Amino acid sequence: PLSTYQLGLDYAKQQDQLDELSHYRNKFHIPKDKHGNEIIYLCGNSLGLQPKSTKEYINQELEDWANLGVEGHLEAKTPWLPYHEFLTEATAKLVGAKPIEVVIMNTLTTNLHLLMVSFYQPTKTKFKIVIESDAFPSDRYAVETQLRFHGFDPKDSLIEWTPKDGETLLNIDDLASILDTQGDEIALLLIGGVNYYTGQYLDLKKIAELGHQYGCKVGIDLAHGVGNIQPNLHDSGVDFAAWCTYKYMNSGPGSLGGIFVHERHAYDESLKRFAGWWSQNKDTRFDMRQPLDIIPGAEGWQLSNPPILSMAAIKASLELFSEVGMPALREKSIQLTGYMEYLILELQNEHISIITPKDPEQRGCQLSIQVKNADKSLHTKLSEANVITDWRTPDVIRCAPVPFYNSFEDVFKMVETLKTVLNA
Ligand SMILES: *Cc1c(COP(=O)(O)O)cnc(C)c1O
Repeated sequence: PLSTYQLGLDYAKQQDQLDELSHYRNKFHIPKDKHGNEIIYLCGNSLGLQPKSTKEYINQELEDWANLGVEGHLEAKTPWLPYHEFLTEATAKLVGAKPIEVVIMNTLTTNLHLLMVSFYQPTKTKFKIVIESDAFPSDRYAVETQLRFHGFDPKDSLIEWTPKDGETLLNIDDLASILDTQGDEIALLLIGGVNYYTGQYLDLKKIAELGHQYGCKVGIDLAHGVGNIQPNLHDSGVDFAAWCTYKYMNSGPGSLGGIFVHERHAYDESLKRFAGWWSQNKDTRFDMRQPLDIIPGAEGWQLSNPPILSMAAIKASLELFSEVGMPALREKSIQLTGYMEYLILELQNEHISIITPKDPEQRGCQLSIQVKNADKSLHTKLSEANVITDWRTPDVIRCAPVPFYNSFEDVFKMVETLKTVLNA
């Protein structure tokens, strides 16, 4: 609750002392300026910081490759052949799934396409796709090109779930109205679970229920959700989900993504898909002459033998997540983001408004701060003052205090800097 927060640096320092997770900051490399001062990094929503343990995990694979060559597939400390299996349990726990429902593979947009090959099966009468109007460009391009691939014009087949006039956030009632009028023609809902721009965390279960009521498949992009909120994917009932691991999952630039396919589809051999040798039953994969026999569950969507160096970084990160657990991270996250919100509101600056929902259940750690009449020079000035945030045109600063490595003091200093820059 907002009322328990207090102003002043002393309060921030006191909260850091009380914070049982504060020592985890030390397990990450915090970027420094050219004088060696730690910067205030609030950009974990774009690229998470590097765990200090990552180097060790990657070095182990380099060493095993140097010493073992091809034998590393079976003889490496963490054998490469089943390497992805060592990531399954922790990943499943993180997203609230069963192990058969998740796998780490490819990158996010690639995975969206592969999943649409299976779960976007349009007919002449049921072919439309719903996305949110503020969808991430890559998701929109993926959907538009899928529509065109099947011979549809996005003009008549791509439906946008838009906020009400004069509002910024999405309302589930409007999705219900879209389905009420066009549900018979809609084949797929593909929605960002936590919107990258506003930070709004949508009710996945309600979206799935609504979509299924009209016979639509429901897919969720969790790029801004995994490692940030607890999406309980299995219970939500969505058909599939995909995410990247370089944002809140701290697994390095361009690292591999993850997918979720609900258990109800795990053994469905009638699903269309694009396959490769890594989709094939592990017992016969290396016979090389067997007919395609797809692995049940999410693993059956894999194509290629995966990049181990990227998986090593994911393993390092997942081990930290398993050690702390999402419940503890989420608890701190709610505190820390609430504190940032409190300090920003206390500025009582009429140019500033927070477009992210006020309800902690409807957001993760990110706050999107709209600054009236601002331009990108505001972001530049913050950067020059050692505060790294993320600018989205026309006038929004996205700030993500990440519970793993950001402190109350970081948040305090960020808001002080914002105040100074705005008053200058
Ligand atoms: C970050 C992000 C992407 C990026 O996709 P890549 O394929 O990993 O480059 C796509 N969609 C959303 C919603 C994102 O937040």
